[in-house]
Amino acid sequence: MRWSKFFIPTLREDPSEAEVISHKLLLRAGMIRKLASGIYNFLPLGFRALKKIENIVRCEMNKAGALEILMPLVQPAELWKETGRWDAYGKELLRFKDRKEHDFCLGPTHEEVVTEIVRRDVKSYKELPLILYQIAVKFRDEIRPRFGIMRAREFIMKDAYSFDADWDGLERSYQLMYETYEKIFTNCGLKFKAVEAHTGAIGGDVSHEFMVLAETGEDIIAFCEKCGYASNIELTPAISGEKYPLEPEKPLEKVYTPGVRTAQEVADFLGLPVSKITKTLIYIVEEKNAVAVCLRGDHEVNEVKLEKLFSGKPFRMANEEEVRKIVGASPGFIGPKDLKIKVIADKALEGYPNFVIGANEDEYHYLNANLGSTFKPDIIADIRKATLGDLCPKCKEPLSFTRGIEVGHIFKLGTKYSEPMKAMFLDKDGKMKPFIMGCYGIGVSRILAATIEQNHDEDGIIFPWQIAPFQIAIVYLKEDFKENAEKIYKNLSQNWDVILDDREERPGVKFKDMDLIGIPLQIILGKNYEKNKELEVKIRKTGERKYIKIEELENFVR
Ligand code: ATP
Ligand code: MG
Ligand code: MG
Ligand code: MG
Repeated sequence: MRWSKFFIPTLREDPSEAEVISHKLLLRAGMIRKLASGIYNFLPLGFRALKKIENIVRCEMNKAGALEILMPLVQPAELWKETGRWDAYGKELLRFKDRKEHDFCLGPTHEEVVTEIVRRDVKSYKELPLILYQIAVKFRDEIRPRFGIMRAREFIMKDAYSFDADWDGLERSYQLMYETYEKIFTNCGLKFKAVEAHTGAIGGDVSHEFMVLAETGEDIIAFCEKCGYASNIELTPAISGEKYPLEPEKPLEKVYTPGVRTAQEVADFLGLPVSKITKTLIYIVEEKNAVAVCLRGDHEVNEVKLEKLFSGKPFRMANEEEVRKIVGASPGFIGPKDLKIKVIADKALEGYPNFVIGANEDEYHYLNANLGSTFKPDIIADIRKATLGDLCPKCKEPLSFTRGIEVGHIFKLGTKYSEPMKAMFLDKDGKMKPFIMGCYGIGVSRILAATIEQNHDEDGIIFPWQIAPFQIAIVYLKEDFKENAEKIYKNLSQNWDVILDDREERPGVKFKDMDLIGIPLQIILGKNYEKNKELEVKIRKTGERKYIKIEELENFVR
């Protein structure tokens, strides 16, 4: 490609709309442009990188035997009503009516549609296992689109769905996808970690997320260096605001609750250092509409207190075991066996969980707290850490924490969709059975942003070779060198993606642009070329420069 024939509208200044580095650099490198909140155009350079990522994903999925299809973005409400998700999915699901007043939505995910495909045409165990996938646009009406294409409303996802005859089959499909994901992210040149995760709106029992390690990640990962345990402590929903709205529904209300224990008393009671108690006396429950309130101190006193607080609203007691399951805490953390926790359930707090906080201050609680608006992300993280505990649930060694960007997520769904949608096949034993399903997502456009978060310096992007929109750039500093530059360009273009900077610009401008757009290898015909016909080769990542003869070039690139 010749720069003069291409379209790379680079920017000199940092755009004010961008908070994180990948967003800034994608804009500055002329790769993306915003059309509306969370909705972006991919310009030619960005599009090339996106296609490279897509192809890495496609190549490994195909190798795993998955079959590529394309499903519609627009989906009829009827399907979503069959699984109950028409009502259960929050506002991220963009719903609308067509001219005939029929309800539709823009697909945020495609479990219903793919299950519809399979239930119509797959009849027998002989046709299983089957893995279908697509690389396509998704729409999620994120409450807080941000960081450019990292958290967009319209974005590109690879989503795959496996159909097996039994649970062993699902285990094999899941394992196959896990390994395929490891290859994909390795091939993209990313540093990542696979972690245990909560299953969220998609549902199912087991899931793993693939996290790109980066300071700007919205998730916090707990991991154990000793035994390899790693899990997401789920900060994202709080930030994205879907589960925990960022705008308070009701103002915080101070309520007098006689007999509340001080942090020290609670710490003594729980057998924990007081430093842990002050910020972390709340256990949040995400199950349905239930809200858990951890009783501080004497539960009997508190029971009375909470009844007063929530007078007239339904609630029930949950035992330690149940609460631990709900909050995902490790055994022993909740406290002594008989510590009771009250779960205020159902209709009273329909919608978003608001809950009671307090006990840092004697005698007071606050009503109407909610995670998104009441707490800063770091405090939420502290709460999550405390919920999990500081020790590895597997080997009891101290946990470490790091931030990550979720680029992939795999789930074991079982019969969550096949049962309500009556997607059945005839098994070996002559019985009709529901398909055992798994689903597997990759944020293709998010990978582009995550790559830049991990690979940049003060001059711009540093693309890994595998996904660089162009791998080699050729810059010549004198018109006299043009002919030879063209020759080198034609030669290298046979094997690589090469861009020739044929603009009539000052060298400084060309060098700045090349660094900004992050081409891994830059070949410069400059002073040394004039003197002794040597090419200057600059390696973007290290800044290293080498001087070589044209004849050595082919070998050098290899
Ligand atoms: P997040 O926790 O970041 O909101 P998610 O858990 O809702 O993501 P999944 O339903 O697991 O997302 O979707 C699969 C993949 O799609 C994610 O792992 C992520 O890489 C990507 N993805 C999800 N939401 C977005 C978004 N708003 N913008 C870009 N990519 C996204
Ligand atoms: Mg997530
Ligand atoms: Mg989400
Ligand atoms: Mg996810």
